[in-house]
Amino acid sequence: MSPIELNKRQDTILQIVKENGPITGEQIAERLNLTRATLRPDLAILTMAGFLDARPRVGYFYSGKKTMASVTESMMNLKVKDFQSVPVVVSENMMVYDAIVHMFLEDVGTLFVVDHRSHLQGVLSRKDLLRTSIGTQNLNQIPVHIIMTRMPNIVFCHKTDSLIVAAKKLIERQVDSLPVVNEKEDGFEIVGRITKTNITKAFISLAETHDL
Ligand code: ADP
Repeated sequence: MSPIELNKRQDTILQIVKENGPITGEQIAERLNLTRATLRPDLAILTMAGFLDARPRVGYFYSGKKTMASVTESMMNLKVKDFQSVPVVVSENMMVYDAIVHMFLEDVGTLFVVDHRSHLQGVLSRKDLLRTSIGTQNLNQIPVHIIMTRMPNIVFCHKTDSLIVAAKKLIERQVDSLPVVNEKEDGFEIVGRITKTNITKAFISLAETHDL
């Protein structure tokens, strides 16, 4: 994913400089059978965008590094839908014991609780379940809706949101996971899950995209 769309000629120039740099504008023009003047706008764009560096009397060479502006731009382009995980949901009538088993089997840290229409009703975290386990003997008799964090107190996001917005919600509300929802007239359908792991993966992909 490149934050700036290069045209075909700019891509070719970049390739020439990568392989032959340092190389003068005149020499690049010769290889492309073009005049130096024709290439001037392309070289200016590539230099300003940080793909190329230019040294007087030496020529152009590949910088390998992208500018801070392009890092920022691609960060803003990261979307929830590109990094979200599959949500794991349980029914509001499931017993706490079964929810604990479910959490282990599905290998997640948060379960989303839904009603009979599959609409979001609550969230169950590891500590919600631990707290109940410490205080209660019979986990087979308590349904999860008794102990969950419920609507309207749930923090959520949408798949078209910027990942930064989701990350801010995770930090500001001090939670590990957000349901990604599709808002319907009569409730929220759960279409994904964003966790701190997803954010960390996005952070790594950003670094890889920019050769950081
Ligand atoms: P843990 O409790 O295991 O540290 P969290 O930090 O995610 O995990 O959860 C802290 C509390 O916040 C829990 O009571 C949980 O039910 C609630 N919670 C978790 N995620 C959300 C969310 N997206 N919106 C509202 N409350 C949440």
